[in-house]
Amino acid sequence: MPPPEWLIERGLDRSSLVAVHTGDCWDPGKRQMPATREQARDAIRQQVPACSKCRPDTRLGLLE
Ligand SMILES: [Zn+2]
Repeated sequence: MPPPEWLIERGLDRSSLVAVHTGDCWDPGKRQMPATREQARDAIRQQVPACSKCRPDTRLGLLE
């Protein structure tokens, strides 16, 4: 199975999302789950912060 292209990092309470990462981020946190491109994009649109290290918002094409 290939590694996920995107990761969503969850908070301690499991229901909150704390960051969106690219699948190859070197610092994706400890509670990340694999995500599709659509899930990653939706999360950012719903104000989940994009990781400042791997910049998934740039790779998703949300910042032109
Ligand atoms: Zn990241």
